[in-house]
Amino acid sequence: MFKYKISMLFILIIFICTFTFVKANDYEPILIGKIIYIDPGHGGIDPGAIYKELKESEINLSISNKIKTELEKYGAIVYLTRTGNYDLSENNAQNKKRTDLTARARLINESMCDMYISIHLNSDPSPTWYGTQVFYTNKNQENKKIAEIMQKLFKEKLNTKREAKNINNTYLYERINRPGILIEAGFISNPNDRYLLKTEEHQQKIANITTEGIIEYFK
Ligand SMILES: [Zn+2]
Repeated sequence: MFKYKISMLFILIIFICTFTFVKANDYEPILIGKIIYIDPGHGGIDPGAIYKELKESEINLSISNKIKTELEKYGAIVYLTRTGNYDLSENNAQNKKRTDLTARARLINESMCDMYISIHLNSDPSPTWYGTQVFYTNKNQENKKIAEIMQKLFKEKLNTKREAKNINNTYLYERINRPGILIEAGFISNPNDRYLLKTEEHQQKIANITTEGIIEYFK
């Protein structure tokens, strides 16, 4: 009986060790050496799109923080253009918004990051528009590829029929020469998107899909 107990104990220890080993291996360090810059849109004097008490800037930051946490599990070095409710504008600037965007572009370019991800929410006068959509410029030749990988995943895993869209002549993204995309995580003007975007679960889902897309691109 004693021998039996001992062997059961051994089996249990081996089981725990194996389980811990497998768990530790859940996150392969496949993004080691990669620098990712996350840009949570708006902040400070600029709340972005709003619906009643809901501010785009707050949801952008919350999703961005979740992406950072996910990416770091895979070994990436992650920076955020802002980590709180503030903007990057110059104090006495005539056009504060422009200086905010210029500062963001400078941070991203000077970091020589491997990818940037800008996080925003969409808004439209019509509440019927919904879904996550990825935008890219032609500024870096990798942008389209990143956008298409990402949009495909969003279509597979979220309720969106939207396609990756090429945008040019935007003040911020025309100034960023590093590879990257803009993700409009959903429409704050759509009741269903808005309901989801407020939840931690949905924000986490967006973070997980974004991380998956980044990993797929670097593979
Ligand atoms: Zn925005």
